[in-house]
Amino acid sequence: MNRRDFWWPRRVRFFSAEEIEATGAKLRRVQRRLVYALDDFRAILGCPVILLHNGMTTGEHASYTHGIGLAVDIAFREANHPKNMRALPMMAAAVGFRGIGVYWGGTGYSMHLDLGMVFRQWARWRHHREKEWHEGALIVDPKDLEMAAR
Ligand SMILES: [Zn+2]
Repeated sequence: MNRRDFWWPRRVRFFSAEEIEATGAKLRRVQRRLVYALDDFRAILGCPVILLHNGMTTGEHASYTHGIGLAVDIAFREANHPKNMRALPMMAAAVGFRGIGVYWGGTGYSMHLDLGMVFRQWARWRHHREKEWHEGALIVDPKDLEMAAR
């Protein structure tokens, strides 16, 4: 995207070019539909979103979507995180995100959001001082629940 995309074809309400560049990303490598989706997500959410350093096109990521400007990693301030964490995945899906990861790091929440082709949702958590993440399902296939109950 470029600076004009913040005003046309639509206005980005909650994020600036400077804020995106502060993650380490070059603006032209970030696709504008990602920022538009993120802006819609932020509007529904109603609380501040922090763009993580190296959370857009730069940094090391498992998902290729970061490298093509279609993914963003965000965090919430501890005192100001979304009131209904359970509704978060649905809010993200409603604005078009397909890859949705929610992380609980013992003191705060963070998220991966992407506009890749494949629907993938996951939850990861770890204790405050723990290094490894534990992984679980964010949206559950009820058949898996039946298997687990056997
Ligand atoms: Zn990510």
